[in-house]
Amino acid sequence: MNADSKVAIVTGASRGIGKAIALALGKQGHRVVVNYHSNVEEAEAVVRAVKETGGEAVAHQADVSDYAEAEGLVEKAKETFGRIDILVNNSGIARDQLMLRMKEEDFDKVIAVNLKGAWNMCKHVARPMLKQKSGRIINIASVVGLIGNAGQTNYVASKAGLIGMTKSLAQEFGKKNVTVNALAPGFIRTKMTDSLPEEIKDDYLAKIPLGRFGEPEDVAAAVLFLAGDAAAYISGQILGVNGGMYG
Ligand code: NAP
Repeated sequence: MNADSKVAIVTGASRGIGKAIALALGKQGHRVVVNYHSNVEEAEAVVRAVKETGGEAVAHQADVSDYAEAEGLVEKAKETFGRIDILVNNSGIARDQLMLRMKEEDFDKVIAVNLKGAWNMCKHVARPMLKQKSGRIINIASVVGLIGNAGQTNYVASKAGLIGMTKSLAQEFGKKNVTVNALAPGFIRTKMTDSLPEEIKDDYLAKIPLGRFGEPEDVAAAVLFLAGDAAAYISGQILGVNGGMYG
């Protein structure tokens, strides 16, 4: 373990963007708690991959939308690695539908996981981070939380809420040297976006100046920056990772 080794919790790290973030943090020598909701095999594979690159990691099941389970996830990090330096709120779900067809439970569920889940995690890391007078919280929002998107009133509300929460918490925690920032990724190639119809993907692609979809590693690189020493004076910011489609 190197002297700069930090302890990170990454929620929803069993696949996609969360997996890339966990691998990137592990590769830098950080100790990583790999949270997952239902997919234990994929989470354990991420733990093995982190260990193969010389890092330390442990998997922990928790539904972040459940207050007590989120607390258990933070306790796991403390028990296993003794502290918490970095929290990446990455867990997220989508239940897309136009307003007329969207069911009330689809609104509630998306808000519960994407927004309340991040709030739960921030609430439980607050005390240890404020006490040790250091910490980095990085919330994975979305470009649609800034520009809106038809068919995603629930998802967009959750991400716009996460952006507002990021700015508010940055004001609350700044005095104790805890930074709070958000990333607003554009279209990133993961399971969440794989199932979109080809014409919708083509529409997105036409709006991306860099001419390609993002990869999970593009988001992970921005997390490494915000978690690292170079970002010590950056807080309350929303960083786009979107190939230039908005900013
Ligand atoms: P993904 O491939 O669908 O992965 C979602 C992750 O969240 C999985 O690890 C899943 O765990 C976990 N998860 C779901 N419900 C959970 C819960 N209740 N508690 C804890 N974990 C839960 O999604 P992704 O594309 O990598 O997206 C990651 C984040 O980036 C999300 O917040 C998403 O909104 C955001 N984002 C994605 C894009 C994009 O284009 N892909 C763009 C902007 C923002 P299990 O596998 O165990 O169920």
